[in-house]
Amino acid sequence: MKSTNIGRKKRLRSMLFISFTICILLIIRIGFIQFVQGSELQSMAYMQQTLNRKINPKRGTIYDATGKNILAVSASVETVTINPGNIKKEDKEKVAKALSDIFNLDYETVLKKVKKNSSIETIVKKVEKEDTDKLRIWMEENNIATGINIDEDTKRYYPYSSLASNVIGFTGSDNQGLEGIESRYDEILSGETGKILKLTDATGTDLGDEGENYIAAVDGDDLILSIDMTIQSIAEKYLAEACIDNVCTDGGNILIANPKTGDILAMASYPNYDLNNPYKINDEDLEFVWDTLSSGDKSTALQQMWRNKSISDTYEPGSVFKLVTSSAALEEGITDTDNEGEFSCTGSINIAGTRIKCWRYYRPHGSQSLRQALMNSCNPVFIGLRPKNRSRKVL
Ligand SMILES: [Zn+2]
Repeated sequence: MKSTNIGRKKRLRSMLFISFTICILLIIRIGFIQFVQGSELQSMAYMQQTLNRKINPKRGTIYDATGKNILAVSASVETVTINPGNIKKEDKEKVAKALSDIFNLDYETVLKKVKKNSSIETIVKKVEKEDTDKLRIWMEENNIATGINIDEDTKRYYPYSSLASNVIGFTGSDNQGLEGIESRYDEILSGETGKILKLTDATGTDLGDEGENYIAAVDGDDLILSIDMTIQSIAEKYLAEACIDNVCTDGGNILIANPKTGDILAMASYPNYDLNNPYKINDEDLEFVWDTLSSGDKSTALQQMWRNKSISDTYEPGSVFKLVTSSAALEEGITDTDNEGEFSCTGSINIAGTRIKCWRYYRPHGSQSLRQALMNSCNPVFIGLRPKNRSRKVL
């Protein structure tokens, strides 16, 4: 009798111990989920329970110096997304067929997205309203009101295609600035993205209007450049002519500034490219072998084409500085613009034992005025340009 009592007590005690241990383990587990994984799980649940659709803001317009000529503008287009969970099982194939027909997409790819177990899938970005209108009509005719979203979006257009292309740059598929002004002033131009938040259940099914939240997008600011479209197009025309006539394989560039303010009125680069089609190479030889190039070579060639030589390449000021020397000489009354035969070029000049050549040393310029020397960019003249009575003055 006594022995069974002891046995029962023993069993009770060990069961109590096991229950107690399990309780402790569960408390530790709850603590781990709550305090260690808590915030991560919470954000995962939030992602699953909300449908988060973006509303793209309208990107600011870029004008030339007149404030009238539009160099870059965003036009309204639409983007189509789907919430697969909200499309009825029996409708899935029909929806995929309609979407692929209207937007010329591959049926199998669309069907995969429609059947996917996710809350949102992008079908097509930045399409014209006439195409989305076809979809609207189809949805109405087929009584499909949920699961397909048509949202406002914007697309960048460059009305003068290649004009000032190396300055303006272009944007990517998410309207982000990728090159030039579009990239440098992206923060000003881009504005703030808006949102449509909707509550859904775990499968991504819409829970109705309850909890729907619409945060409007804030449009970007406009930019007015100092570039004058007329001056820019003249500079580009003559730069292209000069580069072609002189077979300049490295291309060329022209900068025109207002001497009174330092404003850049034109910044032309050759070759340039079509801003509306920035990934199309504009070199015929390269275009011919384009498909055989490695992705690295393609990217180098594109970077080369997009580059704004005027600000990204180094160049010795050299002859540009002759303007400074001649301005100083004119201001000091050392010389005049048109004193015929005042200077003489013999092809080179000796300075402290070093012979500095004129670029046309093989056929020296001979006698010249200051104006002619500037036109000829003749080194010996500018080296010799100094006060005639300098030595006396110094003594
Ligand atoms: Zn010379």
